[in-house]
Amino acid sequence: MASADMLEHSPANVAKDNTPSRTTIPGTAPNRQMALMAEARAKATFDTETLAELIHDGPEALAFRRGAYARTEAAAGSTDSWKLPLQYAHTSREDLYREGLHTGRAAWEDGVKHDHSLFDVLTPRYCMSNASPFGIHFNLFGRSIDFLGNLEQRQKWMPLVAQGRVNGAYVQTEVGHGSNVAGIQTTATFDTTDDTIVLHTPTTSATKYWPGSVAFSATDAVVMARLIVPSQAPGRSKDYGVQPFLVALRDRETGRLASEGLELGDIGPMPGYNQNDNGYVCFNNVKIPRTNMLMGVCSLSRSGELTRLARAELVYGTMLSSRTFITHGAAFQLAQAVTIATRYSVVREQGNLPFEDQQKGSGEVPIMTYKSQQYRLLSQLANAHAMNSTAKITYAMQADLDSRLKKQDYSTVAHVHGLMAGAKAWFTNVAAEGAEDAKRCCGGHGYLSMSGLPEIVSTAAACCTLEGDNVVMWQQTARYLMKVMNVIEAGKVAEG
Ligand SMILES: Cc1cc2nc3c(=O)[nH]c(=O)nc-3n(C[C@H](O)[C@H](O)[C@H](O)COP(=O)(O)OP(=O)(O)OC[C@H]3O[C@@H](n4cnc5c(N)ncnc54)[C@H](O)[C@@H]3O)c2cc1C
Repeated sequence: MASADMLEHSPANVAKDNTPSRTTIPGTAPNRQMALMAEARAKATFDTETLAELIHDGPEALAFRRGAYARTEAAAGSTDSWKLPLQYAHTSREDLYREGLHTGRAAWEDGVKHDHSLFDVLTPRYCMSNASPFGIHFNLFGRSIDFLGNLEQRQKWMPLVAQGRVNGAYVQTEVGHGSNVAGIQTTATFDTTDDTIVLHTPTTSATKYWPGSVAFSATDAVVMARLIVPSQAPGRSKDYGVQPFLVALRDRETGRLASEGLELGDIGPMPGYNQNDNGYVCFNNVKIPRTNMLMGVCSLSRSGELTRLARAELVYGTMLSSRTFITHGAAFQLAQAVTIATRYSVVREQGNLPFEDQQKGSGEVPIMTYKSQQYRLLSQLANAHAMNSTAKITYAMQADLDSRLKKQDYSTVAHVHGLMAGAKAWFTNVAAEGAEDAKRCCGGHGYLSMSGLPEIVSTAAACCTLEGDNVVMWQQTARYLMKVMNVIEAGKVAEG
C-alpha cells in the first residue's frame, strides 16, 4: 500500500527494520486475512522502497530514519506490535502520563545521542510531539528563545535546551483568552527598585490554561504576559503589550516548585494527548530578574526604557514556525489513519458484488472492492501525499524566513505568515476529517480504541485548534490576500 510507505516505521508495519516479523502471530497458523493481505501487497505495480525513499528524502535519510525508529521502539519496549500499546490496555490518566514520559524520554534521548530532530515534531507514534511531556521543549520553548532572545540569552539557554538539561513549556493561552492573544491579562510589572519583573495573575480568567508539560514536568517556561513599566509620574504606568519572559517553574534537580507564588496543576483528561500533562498556572507576584525578559524583539533597560529592535508582531513568531511543523504532521496523521483503514479494507470481507459482470456469486468480497470505499480511502491517500510534498516546500520557506529574520530582513514575513496560516488551517482540517472518515471506513471495528483510529482522530482534531484556531487562521490569510490585492490594484509589487 502506498500509504504504508509514508509510515513504514509504524509499530504496525513491515519488518524491514530488524523488528520481529509481523506477518504471523506467534503461535498461530496463517489465516485467510494474512493471505488476503499478501495477495494485495503482491499486486503493487510500483517499487514500495522507491516510494519510501521519495517520501523520506532519499535512501540515506530513510536508512537513518529506520535506525532511529528501531532504536526508539526498542528503548520504549514497543517493538512487539502484537501487544496492544499501553494506551489501549490501561486508560487511567496516570498510566497514560507515565507512558508519555517513557516514550518521550526514549525519543528525546535518541535525538540528543544521535544528533537528529526526527521526533521534535512528531512522536514515534505519529502524533504531534506535544503528546509527550517533553514535546513542547524544542519546538515552542527552544524556538522562542532562539527567535525572541538576544545573543546573550541564546548563548546561555540554547545549550541547555539542546542537551536536555531543562524541559521547557510555552505558556501563552489563558482561561479567558486564546485566539485573541493581544487580550491576555497576566501582568509582568517592572520593579525599578530591585531590577526585577513581577508576574501576576490578576483575575481567574487570566489563569494560564492549556500549556503542555506545566502540570508535572516542565522546569522552565516562556511565559507571555503584558509588560507594565511604571512611569515617572507617581501611580502611573505604561502597558507595553504582550512580551515573552523566561520563568523557572521547578527546581531542575528536585522537581519542587521554583517559587512560592507559583500554582501549577493538571487540567484533566482529553480525548487525545493524554501522554502530556497540559496544565494551568497562576502567578502570585512571582519575581524574576529583568534580564529574564526575552529581549530580541524589545529590550528593557535598567532604568525602564523600552527599545524596539524588531517588528512588534515577531513576538508571536514562534507560533508561526510551529504551524509549518503542524502541516507536516497533519500529512502523517492522515496517512496513519488511511494506512490502518486500507489494510483493514483489504482483509475485511463483507457482502457480494451485485452485478453479473462483477463476478456475482463468487462469495463475499473484501470491502476494498467497493468503489465507494476506494474513493474514500484513495482520495485521502492522495491528500496525504500531496500534503507531505507541500510540507517540504513550506519547510523550505520557513527555513528561508528563519535565516532572513536572523539578518533582520522582514521582507517575506507577511507573505509566509499569510500562507502558513491558511496552510495550517487547510491541512489540519483535511487531516482531521479524512482520519474521521478512515475510522468510519472500518465500521464498528474502527470505533474500538484498539484499532488506534479514535486516538488518531482526536489528536488530528486537536490540531485544528492548537497553535491558532483554524477559522481565525483563515481570517488571517484572507486579510493578507486583501492587502495584496490593494497593493496590486495600486500598481505596486506585493512583498514575498
Ligand atoms: C491539545 C492542545 C494543546 C495546547 N497546548 C498549548 C500550549 O502548549 N501552550 C499554550 O499557550 N496554549 C496551548 N493550547 C491552547 C490553544 O492555543 C488555544 O486553545 C487556541 O489558541 C484557541 O483558543 P481558545 O481555546 O481560547 O478558543 P477561542 O479563541 O475561544 O475559540 C472558540 C471558538 O471561537 C471562534 N473564534 C474565536 N475568535 C474568533 C474570531 N475573531 N472570529 C471568528 N471566530 C472566532 C473560534 O473559531 C472557535 O470556534 C493548546 C490547546 C490544545 C487543544
